[in-house]
Amino acid sequence: MMILLDGKSLRDNILCELKEKLNKYHKQPCLAVILVGNDPASELYVKNKQKAADIVGIKTMLVRLESNVSQTEINTVIQKLNNDADINAILIQLPLPKHLNINEIIDLISPLKDVDCFTNENTGRLYANNLPIVYPCTPMGIIKLIEHYDIDLTGKNAVVIGRSNIVGRPIAHMLSQKNATVTLCHSKTKNLSDITKQADLLVVAVGKTIITKNDIKQDSIIINVGQHIENNKVCGDIDFEKVSQKASYITPIVGGTGPMTIACLMINVINLFEIQQK
Ligand code: NAP
Repeated sequence: MMILLDGKSLRDNILCELKEKLNKYHKQPCLAVILVGNDPASELYVKNKQKAADIVGIKTMLVRLESNVSQTEINTVIQKLNNDADINAILIQLPLPKHLNINEIIDLISPLKDVDCFTNENTGRLYANNLPIVYPCTPMGIIKLIEHYDIDLTGKNAVVIGRSNIVGRPIAHMLSQKNATVTLCHSKTKNLSDITKQADLLVVAVGKTIITKNDIKQDSIIINVGQHIENNKVCGDIDFEKVSQKASYITPIVGGTGPMTIACLMINVINLFEIQQK
């Protein structure tokens, strides 16, 4: 029997718990969201984040910048938000226009307000096994889903496809912290299907459909991260219909890792807020 890893309902539970947690404070946390330009997908992601924040009782401040904003201007915005005691967390909606230096921008964010765990200090804390103050949202969401369904990763072969700093690399690290044996694959990996067929747990964070039924092991656990639109339809990195016939646990393409990412973003805002109250 295949079990669907339901990110939507777990997200709803988490948002309810966070709302209750915030009731004990006399102050609302505030998340600043920087949105550059008006890419429709980014607009939608920001709207969904604002919706979740409203549910929990987190204020959001949307900082809209023109797509031709200069490096100096955006740097100044971040420094102002860093120095603003009413702002507890800063999020930069990616991707940014190509003329901007993303590394410079990210590293200007105060680590104490770095809600996505992007800064050098916070990623350093993550990989050096210090207790990070926040975890990256999508990987944390995947780990929370796995824990919620009581899946023990000890000794399991985990394969991650995609090595981005946002998803692939951190989830590979976090799975190894959970005692899985991890293989990290990417576009230059040879004989990918031979590797994925050995996976007890497969995480796919690529952005195009590359995994079908013949690429997976019977009864494996499949986590889809990527989404793209094809013929007006939302598609994942896995061929869900076929792969789900063989998997033991699987995330839906919509309602799996996406809602969990947003729930974890809210967890991070509140963690940063609580740290700043001390
Ligand atoms: P990214 O930075 O574009 O990274 C894509 C990765 O996939 C790269 O490491 C690339 O390898 C690898 N890749 C590309 N083609 C491949 C192939 N044919 N075989 C094996 N590996 C291949 O993407 P990202 O930021 O991690 O995001 C990945 C996807 O997840 C996107 O669709 C994004 O929209 C989605 N996403 C979803 C959530 C969520 O909440 N569900 C959150 C973040 C991202 P190289 O390194 O060799 O180029």
